[in-house]
Amino acid sequence: MQVPAIATTGLGARLTVDLGALKRNWQALNRVSQGALTGAVVKADAYGTGLVQSARALYAAGARFFFTATPDEAVTVRATLPDAHIFVLDGLFPGAAALYVGERLMPALSSLDMLEEWLQACLARNESLPAALHFDTGMNRLGFRLNEASVVRRMITQIGYSPQMIMSHLACADTPAHEKNRTQLALFTSVLAQFPNVPASLANSAGLMTNREMHFQMVRPGIALYGGRAVNGRRNPMQPVVRLEAPILQVKEARTGESVGYGAARTLSRDSRIAIVAIGYADGFLRGLSSSQNRQGARMVIRNRFVPVLGKVSMDTTIVDVTDLGPDLPLPGEMAEIIGPNIGVDEHADVAGTIGYEILTGLRGRYVRSYLD
Ligand SMILES: *Cc1c(COP(=O)(O)O)cnc(C)c1O
Repeated sequence: MQVPAIATTGLGARLTVDLGALKRNWQALNRVSQGALTGAVVKADAYGTGLVQSARALYAAGARFFFTATPDEAVTVRATLPDAHIFVLDGLFPGAAALYVGERLMPALSSLDMLEEWLQACLARNESLPAALHFDTGMNRLGFRLNEASVVRRMITQIGYSPQMIMSHLACADTPAHEKNRTQLALFTSVLAQFPNVPASLANSAGLMTNREMHFQMVRPGIALYGGRAVNGRRNPMQPVVRLEAPILQVKEARTGESVGYGAARTLSRDSRIAIVAIGYADGFLRGLSSSQNRQGARMVIRNRFVPVLGKVSMDTTIVDVTDLGPDLPLPGEMAEIIGPNIGVDEHADVAGTIGYEILTGLRGRYVRSYLD
């Protein structure tokens, strides 16, 4: 059955991705990581910015090592970057070795089953097919358990296989003083001792930005490339990459005592002017950005002034209070800044009780997307 694609009239919200800022962010991190190679994590549609466009920009900036979560993402990167080195963080899916080999993808092998299947593929082809070995040093997510290191070593030495990289992932790098960082670094170092001369990789954005000892031979920044805050409680030095604007649909008056939005969660304490903006939770403007009588919500920028969200964010629209703009009221069709130079992704994340990662990867809405370079 042929299904027509959703039409794009250009009338909706606008998401602009600044690929120049993305490149500068990669280059800035590459300077910080100095002796180590700087990879680029492009999972989840490059944190919502667009996988193909962002991977190309990162390659143009100098990145050669890319990390995706899924094989689909990896195959997409391969189609656009024939020379890139591509790691698949989800690892090897059962029965998928031939696909990985054909597409020249490197799984981050994280279980003995995955390793077994990969080594079989190596034997069958009489080739040391590159892959990473992912050890779990304390997160209890993907990775070999530490006590599997000797089995892993035996399995690979038996057939003379040498991995491309040993890696692990930090659980608490966004909190540099957290003791878990020390523990994981020590455990990772002890794993490395069992695999001499294999390049190592531990640091995500936060590890890269806070501790040189965590750089090893390759760093794997994600969030910082896209302008998000990697380290809690510090000024974020990265340039914003994403700009999101949404059109104002209507501006009108409302009286003291009237309620606003679903659930009548806000009652006006003054005669007000309100604007209805065409963005809602279906566009990634989370319902957690709502305000209620005793809770402040998110803000937007209209005519260069901050304006607060009134009441609950709806699926398609959000109501904001524009009373304080006085006579300088916006016109229908004018754009409200949702994310941009005045409001970063982390401001919304803080209001909604989440992290910038979730705000960025949630921007899958009904946008007119455009790319600046
Ligand atoms: C997502 C991810 C990264 C990147 O983390 P950021 O905090 O976004 O820099 C690095 N390594 C692994 C294994 C990941 O899953």
